[in-house]
Amino acid sequence: MNTFSFNDGVLHAESVPVTDLMEQYGSPLYIYSKSEVESNWQQYSQALSDQPHLICYSVKSNSNLAVLNILANLGSGFDVVSIGELHRVISAGGDPAKCVFSGVGKTLAEIQEALGIGIYCFNIESESEMDRVLSVAESMGVIAPISVRVNPDVDAKTHHYISTGLKENKFGVDIESALGLYRKAENSSSLRVCGVDYHIGSQITEVSPLMDALDKALELIRKLASEGIKIEHLDIGGGVGINYDNTQTINISSYIKDVISRVGDLEILVEPGRSIVGSAGIFVTKVEYLKQNSNKSFAIVDGAMNDLLRPSLYNAHHNALVVQESVEGISGNWDLVGPVCETGDFIAKDRHLTLAEGDYVALTSAGAYSFSMSSNYNTRPRVAEVMVSKNQHSVVRERETVAELFNNEKIFE
Ligand SMILES: *Cc1c(COP(=O)(O)O)cnc(C)c1O
Repeated sequence: MNTFSFNDGVLHAESVPVTDLMEQYGSPLYIYSKSEVESNWQQYSQALSDQPHLICYSVKSNSNLAVLNILANLGSGFDVVSIGELHRVISAGGDPAKCVFSGVGKTLAEIQEALGIGIYCFNIESESEMDRVLSVAESMGVIAPISVRVNPDVDAKTHHYISTGLKENKFGVDIESALGLYRKAENSSSLRVCGVDYHIGSQITEVSPLMDALDKALELIRKLASEGIKIEHLDIGGGVGINYDNTQTINISSYIKDVISRVGDLEILVEPGRSIVGSAGIFVTKVEYLKQNSNKSFAIVDGAMNDLLRPSLYNAHHNALVVQESVEGISGNWDLVGPVCETGDFIAKDRHLTLAEGDYVALTSAGAYSFSMSSNYNTRPRVAEVMVSKNQHSVVRERETVAELFNNEKIFE
């Protein structure tokens, strides 16, 4: 059984008709599959089974507590980019000792709190940040485990999808300066050097830039070893790109096999987000109105850019499936647009679909960077999230109410 597939003309989530879920929980709706989350995580786990490793799920891709709890139950670690995400992990039953803390702007308060809680490693993104971690650790009388996030400066020209990332890269430390940081850390009694880390981008669909980055990191590790600085783990950053629309992408197990073949007995950390939850979610929205101008056909749906930002933000493509086609549907090339007052508010463009008002449309591969990027723009309550497992389902985040949205606001007087 496919996670999201048609049965008798109706899209199902595992064994549950999506139409039933829409009736029970309302529209728009995010729907997740528990088994898909688990099997995606297992692909990394199996590929790494013979190597010391820690899978640190990237919380920002989908931070719902139910998702985190499923992964915590599998024994996953987590990659967090704020103290808020660390608290989510703990609330979901995750182990903070299996958490790495990434991000370029860790505040003093965040560093203090994370040190107090006790995490696996700080992924250091600048010398100033390392100095700050050092002084906080000193003042607290604890030792901070650190890894420097290096910028491996992978040839961007041949790999278009990361070239923008490199030009304006705020992340990481270039490899030459990294050496200096490691020397400094090694000489400090409040820091413990544990790893080397890189993350060169997301939705990477070719393995060669990843391998180039790996080679540069291994070269650094050898240099460090020659100076007597021992590295315990190598963090290879995010996971592989996923298939949004006949996307040729990287096979997880062969990629990991390639990595393992080069790293010896180093512990491998990997921080996948998209490839764990992306395919495990759909966003379902209802067609409110069909509107055919002279040369454009619009389906105005109840979901919008505040619910699913990726199309507006990245021009991202999510496949659109009509949950159950109705006989009175009109076949055409439709733009699916939301009610938000922005021309950039679209969910999908120029899709050949047969649509009627009242139909539900599912946008697939919407489990990652989808709900987690949603907002309340236009005073729109964030939608509900539902988890499905076989024929079971329940709400894992209630739909917000309008009253909640301005609860914290006050009239100035
Ligand atoms: C976002 C992010 C990830 C996750 O990347 P995916 O492509 O979703 O696997 C991993 N590591 C860091 C540091 C990130 O910022």
